Amino acid sequence: MKHVLVTGGAGYIGSHACKVLKACGYIPVTYDNLSTGWQDAVKFGPFVHGELSDREKLDKVFAQYAPVAVVHFAALSQVGESYENPGLYWRNNIVGSLTLIEAAVEADCLNFVFSSTCATYGDQDNVVLDENSVQNPTNSYGSSKRAIEEILRDFERSHGLRHVIFRYFNVAGADPEGDVGEFHQPETHLIPLMLEVIDGKRPELTIYGTDYDTPDGTCIRDYVHVMDLVDAHVLGLRWLEDGKDNRVFNLGTGHGYSVRQVVDHSAAVTNRPLECKTGPRRAGDCAVLVSGSDRAEVELGWKPVRSTLPQMIADAWQWHQNGHYDK
Ligand code: UDP
Repeated sequence: MKHVLVTGGAGYIGSHACKVLKACGYIPVTYDNLSTGWQDAVKFGPFVHGELSDREKLDKVFAQYAPVAVVHFAALSQVGESYENPGLYWRNNIVGSLTLIEAAVEADCLNFVFSSTCATYGDQDNVVLDENSVQNPTNSYGSSKRAIEEILRDFERSHGLRHVIFRYFNVAGADPEGDVGEFHQPETHLIPLMLEVIDGKRPELTIYGTDYDTPDGTCIRDYVHVMDLVDAHVLGLRWLEDGKDNRVFNLGTGHGYSVRQVVDHSAAVTNRPLECKTGPRRAGDCAVLVSGSDRAEVELGWKPVRSTLPQMIADAWQWHQNGHYDK
């Protein structure tokens, strides 16, 4: 069986990816520093505790497992935090990714699937966001990811590092079988925070900004189910194994929901009220981020099947009520 090196495999998206990779016949090797991930979430293959900046350890992992590809999730990924602390984001995301890329090239592991973000596009009024849109990020999370995309292109030119780049929109939901789910401490993302309020673990949800240029004044995002998202990664891996060209794919549904709409759906799905107050805008946020591309469906054959808002909230709610990690 083929090994795949999964950085960030103990995190939210990475752990779901490991589950699907295993189901598809790969052995996912998780490489994670557990800064935001959970060892309990590593259930589908070997675990190596390590820093991305630890070149020696990375070299050992490549030598031991001879992975056919790298799927690189590990990164700091909070918009607000990145706005407050750009140095942290540039150091962690860039230095870590660069070290990983150099180690992969040295080990002749030349298939690389990279988790990028719609935050690389930034605010673009009334522009349909497809893979050719200008990238103009409004925060260091987005700009650090954009820079890593550039690094990958450089290493492709110089060393033949073949890559698929996925620009995610807003990832939500959880494994419906309950093996893994979303668990951040502290939590900053909209849907899990809402579920904590609904569950009585927080007094209220603060809506960050009600004066955006959107129909109800709150930010609009395109939510995609984590299981659909990780399915795309397997397709991306096969794309590279089949020798196809380097490619960028947006992963979103093309449907945007405002924060207020997500709040209303959450109350409806859980059949419980949700206390909300309004607050100021969160620095670094864009008004609207919605994918305008069907490239992943057309070229990769990606078929999102769980990415309706009620389904994502229902799956997140099931995980919220039944699942957690201890360490
Ligand atoms: N949001 C909010 N209150 C919160 C957390 C998030 O109003 O407590 C908003 C946030 O400003 C953004 C949207 O919900 O418009 C999604 O934010 P999240 O942090 O989940 O994902 P991001 O878009 O930053 O990747």
